[in-house]
Amino acid sequence: ITILGIESSCDDTSAAVIRDGALLSNVIASQAVHAEYGGVIPELASRAHGQNIVPVVDLALKKAGVAPDEVDGIAVTRGPGLLGSLLVGVSFAKGFAIAQDTPLMEVNHLQGHILAHFVTLPDNPDAPKPGFPFLCLLVSGGNSQIVLVRDYLDMEIIGGTIDDAAGEAFDKCAKIMGLPYPGGPLIDRMAREGDPKAFRFAKPSVGGFDYSFSGLKTSFLYFLRDRVADDPDFIEKHKADLCASLQATIVEILMNKLVKAAKQYDIAEIAVAGGVSANSGLRDAILAAGRKYGWTTYIPPLSLTTDNAAMIAITGYYKYLREEFAGLDMAPAARAADL
Ligand code: ATP
Ligand code: FE
Repeated sequence: ITILGIESSCDDTSAAVIRDGALLSNVIASQAVHAEYGGVIPELASRAHGQNIVPVVDLALKKAGVAPDEVDGIAVTRGPGLLGSLLVGVSFAKGFAIAQDTPLMEVNHLQGHILAHFVTLPDNPDAPKPGFPFLCLLVSGGNSQIVLVRDYLDMEIIGGTIDDAAGEAFDKCAKIMGLPYPGGPLIDRMAREGDPKAFRFAKPSVGGFDYSFSGLKTSFLYFLRDRVADDPDFIEKHKADLCASLQATIVEILMNKLVKAAKQYDIAEIAVAGGVSANSGLRDAILAAGRKYGWTTYIPPLSLTTDNAAMIAITGYYKYLREEFAGLDMAPAARAADL
């Protein structure tokens, strides 16, 4: 079964082809246009998707060696995401489904991030995959959730963020330090040279398995404002220590609830997904917790952490097998609650 996947929820236009779960191609066109604004500008994003979508799909099919009429089904991100961006992918997918007379599968972007673990990669075809049920820490630019995954398409969110997401905390604190968007990967890189215990920032106290990151962001802002008032070069001088301490705090917040959830649900299959799962500090912490608590841990390859269409294609593949098809009246949904 050959599935073409399309992802256009934010600022990456991506198309991927998988055959029976194995990745044949995964093309991602990132949009540089947003960097100078310090964040994604929705209108610019949808215009760029409109320009990118046809060449990106074309390249993905060529790289896979698959002709359009060899595609058995097309999967597309329905949401959550930016409405104008989603609309480009969804409209393209509908057109393709009509032209090739193939089934259309709608995919929840967050479910896609989690199911990225089931994509078989050509350079590591025997990589172990999570066994059901497993817990997945889903940490991305817009979400921070702990998800109980019972089956491919049977998931329950047991905790989420009540304000900012972990990726947002990285990006907003990076912005406070004057770093360009997205700041997460830059903080990760600079943190390697710094002392994670150099500074301390506020940690939230929210109940259950929920997260909160806005207090940390505010504490970081006020801390820097006071220090910079005394020494205008404070940030420059202490950048590595600031990054390391901030990253350590975010990782600690994430890990505390994950450990708690694993205990309460008595689950030792633990996965992490989403853009922030690229973070080296978080990866190390998951591996260390795995050794400490006897977990089997699953960390996605870097290429499948941030937005990509391979994760959309694999989710579509499981929907195809269950004949869960979408109608041509399917409309994109900006919020997860509307999916
Ligand atoms: P969502 O999936 O919730 O809709 P999104 O698609 O925008 O949000 P992703 O593409 O999954 O999010 O992830 C992007 C986020 O991951 C950004 O906030 C980015 O800063 C963060 N990120 C990427 N790499 C790293 C890293 N190495 N360390 C920390 N954060 C990172
Ligand atoms: Fe995402």
